[in-house]
Formats: sequence, structure tokens, C-alpha cells
Amino acid sequence: MTETPIHPWNTPQSTSSSASTGLTPEALEAWVNARLDLHHQALNRVLAETDSRTPGNTLRPYDDAIFELAASSSLIGLLNSVHPDKAVRDAAQAQAQKISQVVVELALNRPVYDALSAIDAAAADPATRHYLDRTLLQYRLAGVDKDEPTRARLKELQDKATLLALTFSRNVQEGGNTVTIDNPSELDGLPPDFLNAHQPAPDGKITLTTDFPDYLPVMTFARSHNLRRRMFLAYNTRAFPQNKQVLVDLLAIRKEIANLLGFSNWANLATADQMMESAANMQAFLDELDSASRDGAEKEYARLLSFSGQSQIDACSRGFWLEQFRRSAFDFDSQSVRPYFPYDRVQQGVLATAARLFQVEFHPAPDASTWHPDVAAFDVFDHGTHSGRFYLDMHPREGKDKWFSAHPLIPGIADHPSGTRIPEAALICNFPGGKPGDPGLMQHSDVVTFFHEFGHLMHALLGGRQRWAGISGIATEGDFVEVPSQMLEEFFRDPALLATFAHHYETGEPIPAELVHKMNRAAAFGRADGVRTQLYYTTCSLKTHTEDPAALDLDQLFHSLYTRFLPYQWIEGNRMYAAFTHLVGYSSNYYTYMYDKVIALDFFAQFSRSNLLDDPIAMKYRRTVLEPGGSLPGKDIVYHFLGRSQSTNAFANWMNEQFQPPSTI
Ligand SMILES: [Zn+2]
Repeated sequence: MTETPIHPWNTPQSTSSSASTGLTPEALEAWVNARLDLHHQALNRVLAETDSRTPGNTLRPYDDAIFELAASSSLIGLLNSVHPDKAVRDAAQAQAQKISQVVVELALNRPVYDALSAIDAAAADPATRHYLDRTLLQYRLAGVDKDEPTRARLKELQDKATLLALTFSRNVQEGGNTVTIDNPSELDGLPPDFLNAHQPAPDGKITLTTDFPDYLPVMTFARSHNLRRRMFLAYNTRAFPQNKQVLVDLLAIRKEIANLLGFSNWANLATADQMMESAANMQAFLDELDSASRDGAEKEYARLLSFSGQSQIDACSRGFWLEQFRRSAFDFDSQSVRPYFPYDRVQQGVLATAARLFQVEFHPAPDASTWHPDVAAFDVFDHGTHSGRFYLDMHPREGKDKWFSAHPLIPGIADHPSGTRIPEAALICNFPGGKPGDPGLMQHSDVVTFFHEFGHLMHALLGGRQRWAGISGIATEGDFVEVPSQMLEEFFRDPALLATFAHHYETGEPIPAELVHKMNRAAAFGRADGVRTQLYYTTCSLKTHTEDPAALDLDQLFHSLYTRFLPYQWIEGNRMYAAFTHLVGYSSNYYTYMYDKVIALDFFAQFSRSNLLDDPIAMKYRRTVLEPGGSLPGKDIVYHFLGRSQSTNAFANWMNEQFQPPSTI
């Protein structure tokens, strides 16, 4: 019998002239079944052990079982998002559901829990003890110690929740809207390359999609209020109405699960094993940021109003007026930097910056098989040792997920008895470019997003040398995950660093420092407003998971929270909750972004601004924050790097930068 390949896209059944397109639904299912067999064999080894239990004889086979689940669910999740063949995507979705059922079964497997509880870990290393403690806590939070009827009900509810979550995401992925315009003059204000890429069809009409490369420029630059309004409503009604009931059903199931486990609501359950610990702590954190941002946001809105000459600005004009004001007040046009950010150069710059900061090398792996010919693979070398592989799938494609994300694919294990396992991860993005003749000029925010996602990738790979798969890479508490990504965002505001790669796509001239300074001053405007936008999303995420779903009016909740946090006029017909996929993924815990921004800015404040690329603290950061992966509690990681707990000072300074004298910027 041949060994099952680690990647589903080169299973023996699918070998053909082109491995990337040879994958069939049948081969995919066979691959998943083979991996799940390995999972169950490993669990059988856990249960068959008759000696007194040790990390070696019990945690090792348990972790082998975890490895199979982690790798198969990540790889199948990836194919569900990106595979070019719809039949394969559909098969991947069915397989993802099957794997989730196995995850739920494992979480409620009492004999496995009893076996892990019996391990004598007194003499084990701290990482092993942390892994075991966390695993046992998560077992209890799943309800493993409840009676049999309760466990059966929990399993039924978890399976239903999984199906609803997949349905919700799939509806968003496949439910894009279009906006058709009759007259090219409606695109007034949009940049020339956008106009070139959107020529009228033979019938004279131009069709725009709700994908980011169309949506974002329209909301930022289109002078036509009517077009912005139509685009806003098209974007914010994706997957409506079908996802409204899906969401209501999902929230009801989550509440029942929380109640069965002894929690008053889902938010308390979902924070119990996080750094945040409780919904009350979350509310206190949000209240702190609410008061810290209120004055600044009021000042920002007052300036926007007086600039626009209007008595009120509506939600579909926020981005437009922010852009117009920044252009005027800071003599900065965000279009002016785009020629310095052609996609290929940015990719080189992101890789070169990360390589220098963290002292690793990236080499193209042209022979690596992938899921699509447009995907580029790279190998990571750490002082000569091959220590990881990553894949870049960076441009939009028919049927591909529309978002920007990093996917850990295979957890790395440093000293497994059967040999080292190299971590793998992928970036799935939708940046401009990737087509012949299109330089793919990016906005600066795209460039920052790229480095953000690359931060996740570095965490997955450099943290991927653990003794156990279950603590490898980004397997920290969920509310620590956005720290390494957001920490890197700040680097790409540094003029000297940007000049190393941001060269004009036609002249080759490096981006002028003065232009970067102007861009930074302009970007600092609107930060308090941006924090309140995040407070809006975060509070929606919390309240949908603390209110009683039976009495919940989603339209009323989202409308009232919007007007509580933001001054812009609400647009009737906005159903953003139907496409807010973070309600599925993060559930109540969308606070993660801001909580981690606080930590990330505190971390970044430790770097020397005059020597960002060669500051020795970058290696301290690699060793104390990235390399531990999930082997330590997040609070310990923070303490090891800072020598104290995080403070909100750096965050408050960042948010109020525009109100400080220019010399300190
Ligand atoms: Zn992120």
C-alpha cells in the first residue's frame, strides 16, 4: 500500500498531465478517508495503552491524531476556498463537514479525555504541561464530563452549527452582486487604470462586481453619490436574505450549547479559554476604548463636515470624504503612491523585508505541486536548514474566495519519532495584477494588508518547530493570533524601508520620503473614527452572542449600534450582518483585532525607529513571540518580550498621533 500523500492535490488517483487540475471529487474523498483512518488508528493507540500513562505513550499518539485532523481540515478548507473546479469545491465542502463531525466526536470522547487526564506530566517540560492543561480545559468546555444524553445533544448541536456556518460562508462566497451602469461618466473620479479595466460591453453598459478590486475604488473615489449608494447596497446585501435565517438559527444553537455547558451565554463560553477570559472583561475593554476614542472621533467628524460643506455625511460617503479631505488637508492623493507599488515589486519587498528582519531565506520552489498554475511556492531556509514551505495565491479568480487570509496548512513538528515535519502555510489574497500587461498597481493599504497576512505566515512557519502539532505555529489562544500580523503593519510606514522596494513602475525611482511622510500624516487622520468602526463591529459580534436569539432583531441591533458608535447617516436597506463572515468565524470574539492591536503597538514601540530593519530586537521578537507558537500562554509571551503586561499607552498615542506636534510623528 502506498502512503497517502500529505497534499490532496497530488494524490495517486489524481495524477495526470497537470496535477493542479487533475484532482477529482472521488480522489479528494479517498484522500480524506485515508487521513481520517490514520486519525482513528492513532486514537486506538491512545486507548489500547495499558502501561501507566506518560506523555510518550499517550500524548504522542493523541497528538498524531490531532496532526491528521489539523492538516486535513486546513487543506480541505483551503480547497473549498480556492480550487478552480466547482465540483471539487463542492466535494471539499462536504468533506469539511465530515471532518468537523470527527472534530466534534473527539471533543466529546470521554475515554480519550480519561486517558489524557491520567497522564503523569509532573516531570514534563513547560510546553508539554501547557498543552495538556489547555487540552483538558477545552475538553471540559466542550462538555466531555456531562452525562450521556447531554453529550449526545451537544454533538447534535455542534454538527448543526458546523453545517450552518459552512452554509453562511458559502452563501457569501458565491453570492456576489453586480452593479450595472449605462454611462461611463458615472465613473468620474476613478483612476485611469480602473477605467481601462472596465470598458463598456457592446451594449454600452459597464458591469461592476462587489469584489474588493471593484468595491474599494468605487467607495473611495467615485464622485457619483448615486453610484456609491448602489455599490454600498449591493455590497451590504450579499447573501441577503438567505443568510438572515441561517444566522438566527446559528445564534440559537450557540446559546443552547452555552446553556448546556453551564454558561449564561455564548460569549462567556467562547472567552473562557482565551486571554480575555469573560464577556464582562470584554465589555470593560470595549468601554475603555470607547472613552479613549470619543473626543478624537468627534473632532475628526467636525473637520469632515466643515470641509464637505454638508450638514451630514452618510455611510456610503464616509470613505469618499475621508479621501477628499486627506487629499486637500495633507496635500496627499492616495493615487499618487500607487505607481510605486506594482504587485511584483511589492511581493519582492515583502519577502525581502521579512527575510532580513527574521534572518531567514526564501527560495522559489518551482517544482512544488499546487492547486492552480497561478500559485507560487517558496521554501524557507533558516541558516541553511529547510524549515518551511509557503504558497502565494494572490489574485482574484472565478470561484475563488474573495477575501485576504493566511491559511496554516500543515503543522510543523520538530522532533517527532518518525522524523521532522516541515510546516506549510498559504496566503489567499485578491490583489490587483496577475494578468499580462497589468502592472497591478496597489494602494498602500493593500501593501500593508500583504505584510499583515505575511505576519501570520511567519508565525505559522517560525512557530512550527514544536514537539507537538497541537501547539505548533499559530495555535496560541485565538485572541493572540492577530498580534504578529498587526505588529508588522507598522513597518510599512517607514520611508527608508519602503524605499528599499517601492520603485516607480515606469521610471524605477524609489518612493520619495516626503511623499511617505505626507501619506503617514494623512493616514493618521481618521484613526479614532476607524477605532469606533471597529468598536461597532466588535459590539455587534458581542451583542449577537449575549442577547436572547429568540427576541433578536438583527436589523434593529445593527442599526442602533451603528448610530451609537458612528456619526454617519445609516443607509436603509443595509444588511451587512448577512455577509459579516466574522460572526461565523470569530463568533463573539471579533474584539481580537483591537485587543491584539493594543499588544502589537506596544511591541512595535520597542523597536528603534531609526534602525527598523537591523534592530537586534527583531531577533528577540522572533525568539520570544514567533518561535514559541502555541507552547506558552499568550500572557507569558507578552511578558517575555515586554518584561511586563501590555499597556494601552502605545495604542492611545497611535490613535491620537494627528493631534500631537508634527515633530513627534
Ligand atoms: Zn489577520
